[in-house]
Amino acid sequence: MKQHQTNRNRAYYRHHRKRVIRRKVRIAEQYGWNISFEGRFAKGKIHCSCPLCGIKTKKDGFPHSQKKKLQCLDYQWADYVKGELL
Ligand SMILES: [Zn+2]
Repeated sequence: MKQHQTNRNRAYYRHHRKRVIRRKVRIAEQYGWNISFEGRFAKGKIHCSCPLCGIKTKKDGFPHSQKKKLQCLDYQWADYVKGELL
């Protein structure tokens, strides 16, 4: 018997362990990693969260190509609004 009572049963933990492993195995296969055993993906993260690897949009804003597209949309919107007023 357990020392303390838990609100969640073993089926709950099994489900989430499997779910997490499935996700990480999918990512590992995409990158062509050699998976010795799948259980190692039960814990820990498999991505790198350092500033060099992360998505830069949050830190540096949109890339130039996206800024140009957004500007184009702004002009289109302005033209549309002007057209409605006239
Ligand atoms: Zn990194």
